[in-house]
Amino acid sequence: MDGYDLLVVGSANADLVIGVERRPGPGETVLGSDLAIHPGGKGANQSVAAARLGARTALLARVGEDAHGRLLLESLRAAGVDVTGVRVGGAPTGVALITVDPSGDNSIVVSPGANARLTAADVRGAAELLRSARVVSAQLEIPLETVAEIVRTLPPTGRLVLNPSPPRELPAAVLAACDPLIVNEHEARFLLGGTAAGDTPESWARRLLARGPRSVVVTLGAAGALVADGRTGTAVRVPAPRVAAVDTTGAGDAFTAALAWRLGRGEDLPTAAAYAVRVGAAAVTRSGAQSSYPTERELPAAPEE
Ligand code: ADP
Repeated sequence: MDGYDLLVVGSANADLVIGVERRPGPGETVLGSDLAIHPGGKGANQSVAAARLGARTALLARVGEDAHGRLLLESLRAAGVDVTGVRVGGAPTGVALITVDPSGDNSIVVSPGANARLTAADVRGAAELLRSARVVSAQLEIPLETVAEIVRTLPPTGRLVLNPSPPRELPAAVLAACDPLIVNEHEARFLLGGTAAGDTPESWARRLLARGPRSVVVTLGAAGALVADGRTGTAVRVPAPRVAAVDTTGAGDAFTAALAWRLGRGEDLPTAAAYAVRVGAAAVTRSGAQSSYPTERELPAAPEE
C-alpha cells in the first residue's frame, strides 16, 4: 500500500459485557448473563469505521500478546485496516469491564493495559507511517505524551484531527495543531472549565478556537454538528439525518473517522461534516460500536434543506 488516506493513533480494547439485574454492592456477588466480548477502544473503532467506508486506513496502537489482542487484530484485518502499525506485547490488552442493567445503564471499569504502553518512542518508530498518511486522527485513551509526540513528528504537510476523549487538559502545542479539535458537549464543557447555563455550541466553539486549534467541531447528537473554522471565522450547523436511534455507542468515533478521511481527500469542513453526520446516523441505527458501522451503500441520504 503506498500511502494511507487515514492513520489512526489510539486505543484498542476488548469490551467484556455482562447483563445484570442490578449491580453488586461492596462484598456482594451477583449472577449475570453470558459474557459477550466485542472489539472496541476509540482507536480501533475509528480505524474500522473508516476502512469499512473504503478509506485506506492504518492503525498505530498496542495490544497484548494474548487472546484479546488476537481478537482485535482479527477484527481490524477483517474490516480492511492495515495493522502493520499495531505493536504487540508489553502488557495485557486493554479491557473494558462493562455491566449493563435492565434500564440500559452501563457501569464500566477500564484497564488501559497495553494502551498505556503506546509510547512517544512508538510514534517516533512509526515516523514513516505518519509521513505517508494524509490525515492522522488521535484520541486520549493513550498517553498524552504520545499524542504530543505525534504533533512533533508530523511533517508540515500532515494534518491532525483530535477527539480529546476522555477529556484532559491539553498542552498549547497540541491544541495549536488540531485541525479540527472534535468535542461533544461533555468534552467542550470540560475543556472550557464548566460553562454558565444558556451557553450555546456557537459560544463553546468560539471560546475553544481562542485556545489555539485551527478549527473546531462540536457534535450535537441527533442535532448533528457545528463546524467552526478559525481561518475564515465562520461557524456552520450541519444537521443530521433523522433516524430511529437504537444504540449510540461508538457513533462519535464513526463520525470522527469519516470526517478525518474526507478532510484528507481535500473536502472543506462543512462538506466533510455533511458526510460524517450520515455515517454517525447510520451507526446509531444498529447496536454495538464496530458492529454498527456502515459501508458506503448503507448510508442514509442527507437531510432535506
Ligand atoms: P458522542 O457519541 O461522542 O457523545 P454525539 O452524541 O454528539 O457524540 O454523536 C456523535 C455524532 O453521531 C453526531 O454528531 C451525529 O452525527 C451522530 N448521532 C448521534 N446520535 C444521533 C441520533 N440520535 N440521530 C442521528 N445522528 C446521531
